[in-house]
Amino acid sequence: MAGLPAAPRPPETAGRSAPPRLAALAAALDDGGSALAQAIEVLRWAVTDAALAASAVSDAADLPVGVADRLLLDVYERALGRVLERTVACPECGEWTTFPLAGDTVGEHWPRSAWCGPGAGVREPTYADLLLAAGDPAALLARCAVGSTPTLTDLAAVEASLCGPLRSSCAGCGVALVDDVDVMGLVLAGLTELQAELDWELHVLATAYGWDPETIDALPDARRRRLADLVSSDPGGRG
Ligand SMILES: [Zn+2]
Repeated sequence: MAGLPAAPRPPETAGRSAPPRLAALAAALDDGGSALAQAIEVLRWAVTDAALAASAVSDAADLPVGVADRLLLDVYERALGRVLERTVACPECGEWTTFPLAGDTVGEHWPRSAWCGPGAGVREPTYADLLLAAGDPAALLARCAVGSTPTLTDLAAVEASLCGPLRSSCAGCGVALVDDVDVMGLVLAGLTELQAELDWELHVLATAYGWDPETIDALPDARRRRLADLVSSDPGGRG
C-alpha cells in the first residue's frame, strides 16, 4: 500500500479480559434482535451494580422503564461524547429550537406504583415486560398487575418512560412547542451510527495493516480513531 507510514506495532492483547468500551458496546448492539432486545443488551453492558441495587434488581432488563430510559441517555452521552438533542422548527416564526435530552433536563425518576382499589394495583413496566408483552396492551397489563383489577389507565399513570410529547417553548417567539420523542429509539439510532463508524475504522485498519479484528478492537478508542483517520487521509491508503 504505497505512501502509508510503516505499520505501527500491533497492541499486546494477551491477558486482556475486557475489550475496550466502544467495541464492547458495538458487540452489545449486535446481540439484540429487536430494538428492545438491543436496549436491554446495551444496558446490561453499561449499568453498574450500584444502579441495579438502587432499583433492587439484578438484571438491567428488570429496571423500571423510567430508570432504563434515563440510563440509556447516560450511555449515549458517554459513548458519543455529547448530549442527545432534538431540534424542531417553530410553526409560527420558523426559528429552530434545540432541546437537550439529558439527566438534568428530563427530570429525576421517582419509583411509582398505583393502588387501584382493594387488593388491586399496578407497577411500572420494565423493558423485559415490554419485550415479553410483544406490543399487546392486555398482556403488558397482566404482567404489571398487582392484584386483580388494574386498567390500562392505571398502567399509564405509573409509566415514567421518556417516550411521548416533549414540551418546550420557541427560542424565537416563545410559542409553546411539542415534539414527540422516543428516547430508546433515538439512543439506539445514535449508537448504531457510532457502530458503523467503528466498523469503518476496523475495515480501514485491517486493510491497511493486516491486523485481525481482535487486535483492532483492543486498541484504545482514541488511538484506533487516529490511525483510521491517518490511513484514510493518505492518498495511497484507500480506494
Ligand atoms: Zn417561534
